Amino acid sequence: MLHFDKIVFGPIYSRRLGSSLGVNILPQEGKMCNFDCVYCECGWNRDGRSSSRFPVAEEVADALEIALKRAASESVRIDSITFSGNGEPTLNPEFAAIVDVTVRLRDSYCPQAKVSVLSNATTLSRPGVFEALQKVDNPILKIDAASDELIGRINQPCGKYSLSQVVENLKRFDGNFILQTMFLRSPDFDTTAQENIDSWIDIVLQLRPREVMVYTIDRETPDSRLGKCTVEQMKMLTKPLADAGIPIQIRG
Ligand code: SF4
Repeated sequence: MLHFDKIVFGPIYSRRLGSSLGVNILPQEGKMCNFDCVYCECGWNRDGRSSSRFPVAEEVADALEIALKRAASESVRIDSITFSGNGEPTLNPEFAAIVDVTVRLRDSYCPQAKVSVLSNATTLSRPGVFEALQKVDNPILKIDAASDELIGRINQPCGKYSLSQVVENLKRFDGNFILQTMFLRSPDFDTTAQENIDSWIDIVLQLRPREVMVYTIDRETPDSRLGKCTVEQMKMLTKPLADAGIPIQIRG
């Protein structure tokens, strides 16, 4: 499974974000997340335990500045500085300060790049997290299913999770975020079942995000029984949203 052993990695090419310089603000060489998704590229939480020391804002700033200086000197294009990596980035207690230094360094070294954060949207009630996400260009926030029961099976939240609370928190963005949803099947569930899709579409129409990114599994997953969805299926499932004028990005 994929674990990042550095704070800054890449740039790597992403179909969603272009040339993406990754920033891992989780402990290195392990995984730390308050979800344990059946499809997580970092593997199961229980197999990824390592140090629990988060990098502090100063360390992130130093690593990022070195990488951005090098990219500038080698004329390497960077389209996005992307917080992803070994888990849920907003769990870093210095997340807000790290966003501030990242935006400052982006402005200095590669003003054309977007700052993107991939998050499972569970920490929006924590002090400073919502405000920090409003400062980035692309807050990419996850809802994989339309019921607590199905989310329990797919994302396996550690601790209490309430979809209605997450939806309420997402309403505060007033549509200025990107919703990310994984479509997948297993012998135990099928997120493409019509009942789930109908309720998911209701949620998306309430939130009216500026874009919806739907995708399916494309790498090795901790649960080996998972099945993909085709691009054609995803197009069909998201058609009511496209018809309602919501931009959809599909990644097969
Ligand atoms: S939210 Fe992301 S990092 Fe966390 S378990 Fe799910 S896929 Fe992995």
